[in-house]
Amino acid sequence: MLKGKNAVVTGSTSGIGLAYARALAAEGVNVTLNGFGDPAAIEKERSGIESEFGVKAIYSGADLTKGSECAGLVKFAEGELGSVDILINNAGVQHVEPIEDFPDDKWDLIIALNLSAAFHAIKAAVPGMKARKWGRIINTASAHALVASPFKSAYVSAKHGIAGLTKTVALETATFGITCNAICPGYVWTPLVEKQIPDTAKARGITEQQVKEFLLAEQPTKEFVTVEQVAALAVFLCGDNAKSITGALQQIDGGWVAE
Ligand code: NAD
Repeated sequence: MLKGKNAVVTGSTSGIGLAYARALAAEGVNVTLNGFGDPAAIEKERSGIESEFGVKAIYSGADLTKGSECAGLVKFAEGELGSVDILINNAGVQHVEPIEDFPDDKWDLIIALNLSAAFHAIKAAVPGMKARKWGRIINTASAHALVASPFKSAYVSAKHGIAGLTKTVALETATFGITCNAICPGYVWTPLVEKQIPDTAKARGITEQQVKEFLLAEQPTKEFVTVEQVAALAVFLCGDNAKSITGALQQIDGGWVAE
């Protein structure tokens, strides 16, 4: 049912985004990759997706902290693939520091990338989806869209914001065959989590090993979520059986926010 559809996955050169792109490609979806990284490694991933899954895979290095580049990414994909049927807003960064020391530029960056980029990309993609009467928008939120943790003021604010954006877009598009949902993962083992371990250790005055135990203490299952599990949920949300799911904040967090 998804075969031949066209997707944009932001922040898909790594972690959860790359897993989304691969899982959609496995369903026959043409994918637009986006994000930063080593050009040779990105090209290997892009061409590997094409040869492994027999779909078209294109790449844009758009910097999504800039609104015009978010809209430009959607236009690029529409130009190259013919449409954007599936939009996954996923690019995101983290910064861990107490509020009184939290750098202003980190606040601006995180709000721009983790929240405003989704607004700009959705705004650009919705007219085509409405015209075709079909669309799937998925925002990677977080357990931090539902609950807070200390020292993550910008991230928690952006993720709570994306929860509101998700619900609003769901209401505006509900009669057009479009769904808009957020996926709210707990801790998933990716470079984003790995990178915050030294800063969390410093902010909390504990060792890096204690940070890992501390992170998993939030998750009753005591296991990191895997990128493949998150991607499988996204594929389900894109399918026909999920057409009545819209405006949902779908947790995949090992029971974290149930506590
Ligand atoms: P990651 O660091 O592996 O990937 C982030 C991606 O965003 C990379 O492809 C990177 O190149 C891209 N990116 C960074 N800055 C960009 C910019 N300015 N423009 C375009 N792309 C940019 O991280 P991840 O853990 O896979 O995180 C992906 C999403 O999942 C984020 O929104 C994150 O908040 C969310 N999330 C992650 C976890 C987790 O535990 N890993 C939990 C909940 C939510």
